[in-house]
Amino acid sequence: MKIFSLAVRISLGAHMTKKSIILYVEDNFDNRVLIRRVLEAEGYEVAEASNAEDALRKIQSVRPNLILMDINMPGSDGYALTARIKATPGFASVPIVAVTANVMRGDREKSLEAGCDGYIQKPIDIDILSQQIERFLARQSND
Ligand SMILES: [Mg+2]
Repeated sequence: MKIFSLAVRISLGAHMTKKSIILYVEDNFDNRVLIRRVLEAEGYEVAEASNAEDALRKIQSVRPNLILMDINMPGSDGYALTARIKATPGFASVPIVAVTANVMRGDREKSLEAGCDGYIQKPIDIDILSQQIERFLARQSND
């Protein structure tokens, strides 16, 4: 797995030098710390938001290339927040990837309805996270 990750990193070298900015919206502090560490090690610039209001401010200040969106948050959940971001001028095309512990049927539909571009399941598999992110970023730049 280590060797594979390294190969992925090298093959993505050109892209990584651009230092894509990832905004991770997540109410759980420990998750934010872990995922920040993983993404920074992979060469991303990471911004965090712990709730909807924070996220709506952060998108304006950091202009993320991609948003990782926790779904289960107190107050405005990730679905509602995704819909608000997608309706914000200038952000309709920023990929939003739902992070959900709910593997119930219907979650995929709900996240797509809200405007998410895809979803990954919790617990996040840190060995494949950057591959998953690169896939969404590549899809974006090919549009
Ligand atoms: Mg949460």
